[in-house]
Amino acid sequence: MELVDILEKLSNASGVTGSEDEVRALMKEFLKPNVDELQEDKLGNVIGIRQGKKSAPKIMFAAHMDEVGLMVINITKDGFLQFTKLGGVSDRILASQKVVVHTRAGSLPGVIGSKPPHILKEEERKKVIEAEDLYIDIGASKKEEVEQMGVRIGDPVSFDVKFTRMGKEMVMGKAFDDRVGCAVLVEAMRRLPKVDATVYAVGTVQEEVGLRGATTAAFQLAPDLGIAIDVTIAGDVPGIKEVEAPIKTGNGPSLTVADASLITHPQVLKLLRSAAEESKIPFQLEGGLRGGTDAGKIALTKGGIPSGVISIPTRYIHTPFSVVNLMDVENTIKLAIASIKGAPKFF
Ligand code: ZN
Repeated sequence: MELVDILEKLSNASGVTGSEDEVRALMKEFLKPNVDELQEDKLGNVIGIRQGKKSAPKIMFAAHMDEVGLMVINITKDGFLQFTKLGGVSDRILASQKVVVHTRAGSLPGVIGSKPPHILKEEERKKVIEAEDLYIDIGASKKEEVEQMGVRIGDPVSFDVKFTRMGKEMVMGKAFDDRVGCAVLVEAMRRLPKVDATVYAVGTVQEEVGLRGATTAAFQLAPDLGIAIDVTIAGDVPGIKEVEAPIKTGNGPSLTVADASLITHPQVLKLLRSAAEESKIPFQLEGGLRGGTDAGKIALTKGGIPSGVISIPTRYIHTPFSVVNLMDVENTIKLAIASIKGAPKFF
């Protein structure tokens, strides 16, 4: 399967944080042929192990399988679903979205309803409708009907978006945060030749609500170094100042120097930079991120694990439609492989 097809499958799959089953199944399928051992831990992390030499370092790569989404918290007597947000979703992008409600009886299509402009009051036109005032319409007319359709409180809701290619080398889809990272992990393992280092390719759960899966996976694996593969904000669009988000699509993966959860270990940064330079892979450096990644938790495991982040520049993250450049994805795969090869020199 081509890289773009792997990404398409991963992006279209649903994996609202805490309900990662569909993505987990795909990760297992994709990783299996290219690892010596495949595990699933108690929280649901998928761990592919490529066994290396005893004397060589053990590297944990983490890409999170979950995506931000919604969860049903109430069913009105008229048959509408009220919801809460799981992970960082802006109220601005919710109204009028097409969604899928994942029930025990299967998936149901729905739409987050919004008032037609004709009946909007003057002050309503400029206002963002808050999530608690919104509802999902699944075509039911009363509560009992909703229940008969299989909906229960706690059911996850994802955005209904189909992966699409656009322009020369761009793709658009949902959940690129962090299915692009998952695709990189899968493809890096597929292309990885026999190397000295031991590699743990981990698809983590519940990153979007507090880096939870990575916390337990890192504790169990106790690697010598940890690298999160995640997305970062690409600011190369109108309305974003360079200082707010200096990373651009098409300029190669971004190496985090520091974010809200991590100051990248100098030895890891050195490894990543030199791997990129030696393999002539373009890269960007980034220092002012307000978010965090799985690497933040890996770094604080046990007595401390040197950690870093490789990110794919991504436009419109945490909205239903994100955009990445396939060349950046390709270069991130190359950088992951080059880092694995180079690791024994540094650890
Ligand atoms: Zn992420």
